[in-house]
Amino acid sequence: MRSQVLRPPYCYRWAVLLSAVLLTLSLIISVSWPGTEGTAAESPPPSAAEPAPGRDAAAADPVRTTARAGRFVALTFDDGPDPAATPQILDLLERHGAVATFCVVGTQVRRHPDLVADVVRRGMRLCDHTVSHDEHLPARNEARISADIAGVRSDVALAVDGDVPVPYFRAPGGRWSDTVTAIAARAGMTPLGWSVDSRDWTLPGAHAIVATVQQAVQPGAVILLHDGGGQRAQTVAALAELLPWLIAQGYRFDVPAT
Ligand SMILES: [Zn+2]
Repeated sequence: MRSQVLRPPYCYRWAVLLSAVLLTLSLIISVSWPGTEGTAAESPPPSAAEPAPGRDAAAADPVRTTARAGRFVALTFDDGPDPAATPQILDLLERHGAVATFCVVGTQVRRHPDLVADVVRRGMRLCDHTVSHDEHLPARNEARISADIAGVRSDVALAVDGDVPVPYFRAPGGRWSDTVTAIAARAGMTPLGWSVDSRDWTLPGAHAIVATVQQAVQPGAVILLHDGGGQRAQTVAALAELLPWLIAQGYRFDVPAT
């Protein structure tokens, strides 16, 4: 009987206590939680965690034109330097008074610092093409992307024994993401794309490389070629034909826009 008498007041007290706890909790939540926008804005975009090549390529918007307007082209050579191809390409460029941009890979820069120094000494421009040429760069975390991009600049500084400008960055395989672009931009580099793919990397023969460029070239074109990453004799042979042909067509050579 005694327990029945005591039960109602205890129930009441528990109800009051529970209400007070709930009220306090709701007050804390309403004061400290500004709303879903705050948390959404702090979340990284999906592209930071996962590669989505189609969408990212559009969002990154890399440069695909020459610095100057008019009948100019910008030649770009990726994946070097290479002890076989790079010196031959430099000789051809010099013979035709042409400037070009070399998108160098850090591991190659470390192996051939003298070649990088030669590229710079001959008035060519440098472009950062990452240390490791990781074609899945957009899938990596931000710290790893930063290290892969920043490493090239220290490799280049060691190779030329000083500070030399590296005004461009080109993502390996042309695989961009908003994060990759943002990190390159923070390091003061222009994301560099291309408008003409010579497809020299498919090794179609020098004649096919020449024909591809001849058909696609137009004023302001940024042309993708390779001096490293494999056997580049076809590229060298194609360049020996393309340089005089471009000059005969009234083209002059420029660097890409920044
Ligand atoms: Zn490459």
